[in-house]
Amino acid sequence: MTEEKDLARALRRHHAARLKQNRQFYWGRSSHDPLTSRQRGILLHTAHVCSCFGCGNPRRWFGEKSMQERRWLQETVFDALRAEQTDAQAGGCEDTSP
Ligand SMILES: [Zn+2]
Repeated sequence: MTEEKDLARALRRHHAARLKQNRQFYWGRSSHDPLTSRQRGILLHTAHVCSCFGCGNPRRWFGEKSMQERRWLQETVFDALRAEQTDAQAGGCEDTSP
């Protein structure tokens, strides 16, 4: 059990070191202007630092709701409306539409 855990940790550290090595020239850096240790740590989980109109928050660029908000709305509000409609139909209520 402990050995498996150690191996998993070693593998995670191996890949972290590998990615830091491979990405050392990301963000327009060269061997003359290397990334700091902290920047390499950020780079490990954020290889592409960008908030352009393709990657950034749509609210900022287009005034739209974000994908998470649209998903939440669809799951909660629309499903609640649909459930209300099916309840109304099942209950035998008269049609209120014009
Ligand atoms: Zn981008």
